[in-house]
Amino acid sequence: MEITFTIDLEDPSERYAPEGQYVLMTRRILDLCAANGRKATFFTIGRVAEAAPDLVREIAMQGHEIAYHSHNHLALTLENPACFQRESAADKDRLEQLAQRPVIGFRAPRFSLTPQSLWALDILAELGFRYSSSIMPTDISLFGFPEASQAPFAWPNGMIEFPLPVAKLGKYRLPYLGGIYLYTMPKFALRLFLAKARADEVLWTYAHPYDFDDGEKFARMPNTPLWISLVLWLARRNASGKIWHVLDLGNAPPLCERLPDAKGA
Ligand SMILES: [Zn+2]
Repeated sequence: MEITFTIDLEDPSERYAPEGQYVLMTRRILDLCAANGRKATFFTIGRVAEAAPDLVREIAMQGHEIAYHSHNHLALTLENPACFQRESAADKDRLEQLAQRPVIGFRAPRFSLTPQSLWALDILAELGFRYSSSIMPTDISLFGFPEASQAPFAWPNGMIEFPLPVAKLGKYRLPYLGGIYLYTMPKFALRLFLAKARADEVLWTYAHPYDFDDGEKFARMPNTPLWISLVLWLARRNASGKIWHVLDLGNAPPLCERLPDAKGA
């Protein structure tokens, strides 16, 4: 089984301090990758490149892929296209200078590439991005692209999409390889879903630096009921073990190296 490890490199506190907790946790992820012979894709927020350039250099020097995750984690559906174009161009330049390599991958914050925000794809292609990993092919979440294929496909402008892996459960399509879906999923269900994955799918997990923070103190999330904040916090305490459980089932290179696997595209 081939499963790529992807990380959304962002700071949930939005402070982006040069040595913030997100930096320490990213270093922890780098150490774990080195110990396990893993190369991952780091979808990096533009503000991280500004605040912690050495971290981005370090990630690239260790052989991981640097990709882009927007300037400030605003959902694409709330972005202004001109502003998105300007910020993405500047951030791509900065990331490429730090990584010393072309940056060709993009992930929309919160998988917010939907039928309403498709305008972003042409801007991204013009800037030289070659693939996106930005859609949830399901209708169970706030952002989704329910009609989309589960296998990688090409958008009309030629960009390749790697959709979030989902499993069929009755009439639903359920994400299972990242976030709260993964952290609350029993291991037997996880193995069952992986065994049923189609041969033309490209499988990848996603995680965040804060998922690796065992000592994270409980804080109620903004605009979220107390019990949901508590359930998410408790689930994250189990997160890094669950991520490595999945990654141990199969190794695969960063997404940029899996473009040839996008067979149907
Ligand atoms: Zn994110």
